[in-house]
Amino acid sequence: MKVIKPENPQGFCFGVKRALEIVEVASKKGDVQILGWLVHNPSVVEDLKSRGISTVESVSDATSDNLVITAHGAPKGILGILSDKKIIDATCPFVVKFQKQVERLGEQGYKVVILGDKNHPEIKSVSSYTKDPIIVSSAVEASLVACYDKIALVCQTTQNIETLKDVSTSLIEKTNQLLIENTICPSTRTRQKNASELAKKVSLMVVVGGKNSANTKRLVEISQKQNTKTIWIECSDDLDELLLKEISVYVSSSQIKSIGLISGASTPIDSVERVFEKLSNYG
Ligand code: SF4
Repeated sequence: MKVIKPENPQGFCFGVKRALEIVEVASKKGDVQILGWLVHNPSVVEDLKSRGISTVESVSDATSDNLVITAHGAPKGILGILSDKKIIDATCPFVVKFQKQVERLGEQGYKVVILGDKNHPEIKSVSSYTKDPIIVSSAVEASLVACYDKIALVCQTTQNIETLKDVSTSLIEKTNQLLIENTICPSTRTRQKNASELAKKVSLMVVVGGKNSANTKRLVEISQKQNTKTIWIECSDDLDELLLKEISVYVSSSQIKSIGLISGASTPIDSVERVFEKLSNYG
């Protein structure tokens, strides 16, 4: 099967690469644990675990003296709670910038509205940088927001720009002053643009990434929005004979006989390559 990948970017994004490097360096100096999933990809978390670098779900579960804050950041107050630990901060610089933006906007008197998933660690982290922010996940939820004199709209670094536009439209009638700060990170913007362009050129898209990865989910949505059949897998093992046959039959019967292959920011490059090989060599 003919498989097309965007030239760049594939594999880990800048923030994930950086977080993994920080953990590697720290683990050579002694025992470390990670507060939450370092990367929303099961194979990466398993690989770390096999090398003695475990993940703890909460501060109270931490037994190591060295605790890593993931690329998604941590709630503001957590450093005080962890005063007996050595904190190794792997928060992505784009998330740090986002935290500071939210803090500044709150200080400037804006009601801060954050577009994102309230259960995602990044949103739990940034929302702690201002008092009582409102978190919405869609334009419908934004339409239920009360009226405020000044509203500032920001969004999760992995959000879709189209959703940000829809939410801003819902909010405009809620306030005298709507300030929008586009906090989607550069890596996400490029990946989403690639996904949208590639989905127009192929009959079927395969998206590789963890099922709990927010940025991978956005890529799936963007591809589907182009009315392109889209299959979301976590790794090459998900491509069993049945699924490969389904893909092959679908592509053969379509006008455009090629498959697009993209991946989330937390997907290792060798995992993408294995999927590429399996698809290319089928049949
Ligand atoms: Fe940083 Fe963007 Fe990667 Fe998140 S997706 S870790 S904000 S570079």
